[in-house]
Amino acid sequence: MSSGSEMKSGDAMALGMSEKVRPLHEQVAKMIEEEILPLDEEFLAEVEKGDRWTYTARQEEILSSLKAKAKERGLWNFWLTNSESGYGLTTVEYAYLAEEMGKAHLGAETFNCSAPDTGNMEVLERYGTEEHKKKWLAPLLEGEIRSAYLMTEPDVASSDATNIEMSCVRDGDEYVLNGEKWWASGAGDPRCKIYIVMVASPDEERTKHQQHSQILVAADTPGITKLRPMEVYGLDDAPHGHMHLKFKDVRVPASNLLLGEGRGFEISQGRLGPGRIHHCMRAIGQAERALEQMCKRSIQREAFGKPLAQLGANFDIIANCRMEIEQARLLCLKAAWMMDQGDKRAAAPWISQIKVVAPLMALKVIDEAVQMHGAQGISQDFSLARAWQHVRTLRLADGPDAVHRRQVARAELKKYTQQKM
Ligand SMILES: Cc1cc2nc3c(=O)[nH]c(=O)nc-3n(C[C@H](O)[C@H](O)[C@H](O)COP(=O)(O)OP(=O)(O)OC[C@H]3O[C@@H](n4cnc5c(N)ncnc54)[C@H](O)[C@@H]3O)c2cc1C
Repeated sequence: MSSGSEMKSGDAMALGMSEKVRPLHEQVAKMIEEEILPLDEEFLAEVEKGDRWTYTARQEEILSSLKAKAKERGLWNFWLTNSESGYGLTTVEYAYLAEEMGKAHLGAETFNCSAPDTGNMEVLERYGTEEHKKKWLAPLLEGEIRSAYLMTEPDVASSDATNIEMSCVRDGDEYVLNGEKWWASGAGDPRCKIYIVMVASPDEERTKHQQHSQILVAADTPGITKLRPMEVYGLDDAPHGHMHLKFKDVRVPASNLLLGEGRGFEISQGRLGPGRIHHCMRAIGQAERALEQMCKRSIQREAFGKPLAQLGANFDIIANCRMEIEQARLLCLKAAWMMDQGDKRAAAPWISQIKVVAPLMALKVIDEAVQMHGAQGISQDFSLARAWQHVRTLRLADGPDAVHRRQVARAELKKYTQQKM
């Protein structure tokens, strides 16, 4: 099947919660509500008590106790979809769990389902050698270390990854890397031990999409300097961080190159699809939580002699938020279902659709929730301001909206012309 709109009659598009995932969903939702959300704010407030870029003892205690509980209960590594390891969930099934995880700051990490680790683990699982797997994949799967993905560079428009310039030159048994990367999410975390780095491997003999490679770089390799954490509307997201890094004569064993020179785009194709949709699933969870907060606030607080809910256009605002969440969720499930059909090319425009729709929807819902809370809504007293900041970054991270719209439009036009658009 090449596209959802070309389904044959009789094909079942099962988007509902399966019997297999239902009990997992119940446990994940319960743990988020009862054990993770109550610790979220304390965990975040702790950042101010330490040096920001290491975890305080209390943060370590919170993280390790939550992760240990999740592991003990078998609620771990759900993201390994359509795989024989792990639960073997489909992407549709995973969507229900990821949505719950989106509701708490520590949601994804508790269950070892965080970005960018899940995408990086997929790369290592698919393209790593036995040695890479032993050294990096095994501790990532156990949640003992973290990782970062370094593609974006300050000097080039990185939404077009063919622009990437970091040099990677072979010298005997090593490659030597020079250049700068920024917005390396998670590279601030002291537990981040491995980077997957997109580099230039120019060769006139090869095509435009065969000019880049991906290589594993241990975070403590000499020659790497952390220049600064990039700020998101003034926040540094410590200790996770989105780091600006400089590579000066960084020497890496040649065996760290994944798949082969010039095959970086091949790897990206596999890596970014799941990562993108996982962000969308969690954004829907954030919107759902914001709507819940908005409704509760609008019932509890009164102005002009009435609960806020009954004033002005607030019924319409609440109704519109509910309708938009439902529309986005259905699109997300459909994109997930397309991924489960196993044809990456056919699924790509569906992933692009939800990558545009989910953050825009979530931003709108969270903004309305902020408004219903009055001034307190933008303050540190609620998670709403932080949620808005995070979701806003999703309109850029993993490809800006415009790039995804382009994918959607090209797929649409392709139905009517052979010409490359
Ligand atoms: C919080 C955060 C975390 C991030 N984490 C990571 C990470 O872990 N690793 C990593 O490598 N990168 C990361 N990024 C970077 C992100 O992926 C890039 O910012 C993104 O790909 C865009 O690249 P750019 O910033 O160079 O923008 P540019 O390429 O300069 O694009 C700027 C703008 O140009 C316009 N534009 C571009 N292409 C088109 C088009 N085809 N049609 C119309 N308009 C267009 C769009 O408006 C776009 O926003 C992160 C970014 C943020 C904000």
